[in-house]
Amino acid sequence: MAKEERYDVVIIGGGHNGTTTAAYLAKCGLSVCVLEERPECGGAQETVEPMAGVRIQPHAIANYGGSAPGWEQLELWRYGFRMDWDPKAVIPLETDRHLFTTDGPAPITEKDKMGWAKMTGLLTDPPYYKDLMRATFWCPPHPQDVELNEHTIPYMQVYKQHAPDMWTRELLEMTMFDLMDEYCDTEWFKVNMAWTALVSGAHGHMEGVAIPALNCVATVFPPAVAKPVAARGNMHGYFHAIIRCAIAHGAVFRTCCPVEEIIIEDGRAMGVRLRDDATWASKKIWANKAVISAAHIKPTFLDLIGPQHLDHGFQQRIKDLSLKGGSLYMTHFLTKEELRYRPKYQRQPAEDYPFTGTFFPSDSRELYFENVRDVLGSQTNLTLPPEKAMWGMVSSSLYDETNPQCTRPDRVINGPLWMMVPTPQYNVEGEDAMDREKEKWNEYMRQALSAVVENIDDDNLIKIFGETPREQEFRNTGMMGGSWYGIRCDRDEWWNERPLPELARYRVPDIDGLYLAHQSAAHPGGLCLMAVGYNLMHILIEDGVAEPGDWWYASPWYIPEEGKISAAGR
Ligand SMILES: Cc1cc2nc3c(=O)[nH]c(=O)nc-3n(C[C@H](O)[C@H](O)[C@H](O)COP(=O)(O)OP(=O)(O)OC[C@H]3O[C@@H](n4cnc5c(N)ncnc54)[C@H](O)[C@@H]3O)c2cc1C
Repeated sequence: MAKEERYDVVIIGGGHNGTTTAAYLAKCGLSVCVLEERPECGGAQETVEPMAGVRIQPHAIANYGGSAPGWEQLELWRYGFRMDWDPKAVIPLETDRHLFTTDGPAPITEKDKMGWAKMTGLLTDPPYYKDLMRATFWCPPHPQDVELNEHTIPYMQVYKQHAPDMWTRELLEMTMFDLMDEYCDTEWFKVNMAWTALVSGAHGHMEGVAIPALNCVATVFPPAVAKPVAARGNMHGYFHAIIRCAIAHGAVFRTCCPVEEIIIEDGRAMGVRLRDDATWASKKIWANKAVISAAHIKPTFLDLIGPQHLDHGFQQRIKDLSLKGGSLYMTHFLTKEELRYRPKYQRQPAEDYPFTGTFFPSDSRELYFENVRDVLGSQTNLTLPPEKAMWGMVSSSLYDETNPQCTRPDRVINGPLWMMVPTPQYNVEGEDAMDREKEKWNEYMRQALSAVVENIDDDNLIKIFGETPREQEFRNTGMMGGSWYGIRCDRDEWWNERPLPELARYRVPDIDGLYLAHQSAAHPGGLCLMAVGYNLMHILIEDGVAEPGDWWYASPWYIPEEGKISAAGR
């Protein structure tokens, strides 16, 4: 019989958040074991090759992490991370940039640009942009007894200090649309940014999340990152750097090792039990200091922690958690020749402006709400005609030339094109409603694209690789709910409320030594690279689990819990 093993910390799930947490803890000198159900780590940050020489990103593509303290603290450049920097790349607010509406390109005005720059802290000297991003995402929620108001919420403190003319209590009530109505100009600019927020985390139309929504968008645009698709080797390339960092500091990763149970004795998490078919022979792995679940919140509580360890009412609240954040349908197009804009969208000279993808159509708020109605309102498969469905797309030309997506001669892969669709578990037509008609939805995406692209016809198109949200779950069990953000977004599920107020500081009440790190269970969730790992570190330091070296610095807006070790006092 295999010998049972013991580590300081056992982490369930080798996705981005479990792996970042492992890197932080291993760098503190702790022995760490990460258990991953799938044959590969990386979770939703993966690149797959459905056909030899054709690489696609079925989930994450964009770098939402420019302001993360983790770049410095984990020194990712030492582990192979490289940013793809092209000084000629078209940046989103470039001088003569146009947005795409059904009527054709529409100019971003000076007032749009200056309003955006003002709201995101780019106009002061020095800019307070990075502070604003960090205050919003890279800071753990406050202890529950701290009142949340315009003086205590970190991003409000940043505005108060750097932009007192913007700082008003009303910011806490506004939607991102309200905010843009004050500072920006054109409808297409506001609709474009609100939709980018909608597909990035906090929604552009939700009351009380104006600043998180604004910053979801700001954190993926320059100057936070060189360009949105910026990591060499894409997001999986970035993930390689994180996992190498964790391994270099001694963390152990075991794949094909699904955890079936978190072992709890006398109210303390002691370790985990693997499923019988796990490849590792020893089925119990013990944790001296902590067990961290970086797997989805619902199975964590409803399957891995047995009901005998949970209060019935609490269990029900976990069951009731709504994941209605909307999910993404991801589509890649393999073609014979490069895609071309229709003449009305083509900037001249055409050779200087290849197809780079776009967001479309940014016509009006009414259209934005028509899209939202299907996805978040009636929760049906999309009922809009494809030319009215809002989508975003990145093209082959946006990826690093030295690491092309397609290496087959005379072939080009473009994508993903992503569109928001209902989360499968809430689709009134059934969980598999989109899967049943996948051909139809792939064709729908092609028609949506053809409003802007002239040559996505049968002569040019070889194959469409479509991925429904439910397929994303099968591919990756961390994605249950099919959502890139892992949870419904509104004020009640933001920051100190996320996913439930008593879990917001990543601890589990009544079970010592158990912490949460999955995007569905922890602020700020998905995207915002390294944020969950960094934020959780504050709590693990408070509880005496981790003692980092001089490389560590806490968030300046962090408030320690009384009676605990302060993560800032180092
Ligand atoms: C369509 C889509 C588009 C996205 N776009 C972007 C983007 O552009 N940029 C970006 O930064 N992010 C993007 N994201 C979000 C990003 O991928 C996630 O935020 C990130 O992957 C979350 O990491 P995680 O570790 O919390 O969860 P996951 O990536 O879900 O990882 C959880 C891991 O736990 C494992 N696991 C689950 N249960 C068990 C168990 N019982 N035992 C062992 N292992 C288990 C899973 O197999 C998985 O590997 C996107 C996501 C989707 C779905």
